[in-house]
Amino acid sequence: MGSSYSFACPGCAYAAEVSGGPDTGEARRTVTISCATCKALRDAVISRDPFKEPPDPIPKRPACPNARTRSHRTVVWSHPGPCPRCGAELVRGPLTVCWD
Ligand SMILES: [Zn+2]
Ligand SMILES: [Zn+2]
Repeated sequence: MGSSYSFACPGCAYAAEVSGGPDTGEARRTVTISCATCKALRDAVISRDPFKEPPDPIPKRPACPNARTRSHRTVVWSHPGPCPRCGAELVRGPLTVCWD
């Protein structure tokens, strides 16, 4: 089961709802990315087969789900990590969604 948390930035009031790291649901594996193009955190789907052995490796630059091509500059992000807008450390809030 995947789970999302709310993250908030104490520096610039940016907020996001993401897993905050690698996550696995019934039908997909995701990883949280920081996109420098969108200036936002997102969960990128890295596999549609979460039970595959061995699992698909996490790419260094997962594709931004907001981009049609791989043109966005992304990095894998995990909690605790910097705000995509101002670089301050994001604060993890409560669990918001359990998906799958
Ligand atoms: Zn910020
Ligand atoms: Zn993007």
